[in-house]
Amino acid sequence: MNPINALNNKVVLAQKTVSLRGNLSVREKQILKRFKGATEEDWNDWHWQLCHRIRDKATLSKFIHLTPWEAEDIEQTDDNLTMSIPPYFLSLMDPVDPACPVRRQGVSTILEQQSSLGEMIDPCGEEKHSPVHGLVHRYPDRVLFLVSEMCAMYCRHCTRSRMVGEGKRSLGSVTYEKAFDYIRQNKQVRDVLISGGDPLMLADSRLENILKAIKSIAHVEFVRIGTRMPVTLPQRVTGELVSMLKKYSPLWISLHVNHPAEITGRVKTACDLLSDNGFPLGSQTVLLKGINDNSEVMKKLMHKLLKIRVRPYYIYQCDPIVGSKHFRTSLTSGMKIMEALRGFTTGYAVPTFVVDVPGGGGKVPISPDYVVSRHDGRCVLRNYEGQEYVHYDP
Ligand SMILES: *Cc1c(COP(=O)(O)O)cnc(C)c1O
Ligand code: SF4
Repeated sequence: MNPINALNNKVVLAQKTVSLRGNLSVREKQILKRFKGATEEDWNDWHWQLCHRIRDKATLSKFIHLTPWEAEDIEQTDDNLTMSIPPYFLSLMDPVDPACPVRRQGVSTILEQQSSLGEMIDPCGEEKHSPVHGLVHRYPDRVLFLVSEMCAMYCRHCTRSRMVGEGKRSLGSVTYEKAFDYIRQNKQVRDVLISGGDPLMLADSRLENILKAIKSIAHVEFVRIGTRMPVTLPQRVTGELVSMLKKYSPLWISLHVNHPAEITGRVKTACDLLSDNGFPLGSQTVLLKGINDNSEVMKKLMHKLLKIRVRPYYIYQCDPIVGSKHFRTSLTSGMKIMEALRGFTTGYAVPTFVVDVPGGGGKVPISPDYVVSRHDGRCVLRNYEGQEYVHYDP
């Protein structure tokens, strides 16, 4: 490596990283104490966090007062999504209030066992657009590349619950090779979105092999990683990971954040480390009933994201996966939120609200209508406050 590259690859470590990594919140300390012999150093180690994830209701009930609908263990079948909660993410859950927005995203309930009208195993029709296993080619110039079935925490609203979870190992070196070949042969693919599952669940070296292969394809111009780990397990963002990723710059990183309570000092530290080292950050939010289907909560979330240099990118209508009725809102509720953001705050805090339409049609933007009427070159527009103005449209 020449000296210039060596310099570029040097990781910018924020001074505060070290102290924030070390300081445990009161709740974190309480939880840590229940793990006999574990140290604060363990708490800050993502491997420790992964190994000590809470996977069953008996263990969970030691930390949280479970309600009857939360208490039952979900049977581990192919159709059911594993429950798995890192101790760090558990520390953000209210131990008493079952309506806690963080808790509802991570703790499985019997409501997931009920299927409702219009619900599907693969609502976005990804299998239909999969030319090789692990690759979804829905749009002309870009592909979605699923590299891992595992996540640090399994979101109860996950749109890919058909394929994510512990023990659903079907993605690996063989699939990677076939995917690389497909991308190599299809010159129109100029954009690769590496997702899963969570790509950051892979060891740095495995992720590096994937990045190296994709970046070596000349017609690939834009590479993104979609990950929730900087939020569910921010300890994953280590200096080693960042210096590896830096070799493959430019690289965009897309996070998944649903509630302001998920944005903690640790998340800020992880995002700072990524931003300071040159990775542009975006976020995607799933509209969830009782969690963020409220203008004030959503505005606060968008503002908190901007404050940690994350640009809100999409708000998704919750996909109709089987057992998601308790999470889904009306489209109107999403449009009202968009209306409450636009104009009332900076456009940087206004993502695009989309529905990934059932059957594989892709993302369709849904926007409140600001055009009141339009004829003979006279267009009546309403502004964010509801006042009408005439625009002469040649
Ligand atoms: C969301 C998605 C993408 C990426 O779309 P962008 O609008 O570029 O973020 C690509 N492929 C599939 C199948 C997707 O669902
Ligand atoms: S992080 Fe993403 S892929 Fe993983 S469970 Fe959550 S929504 Fe699904």
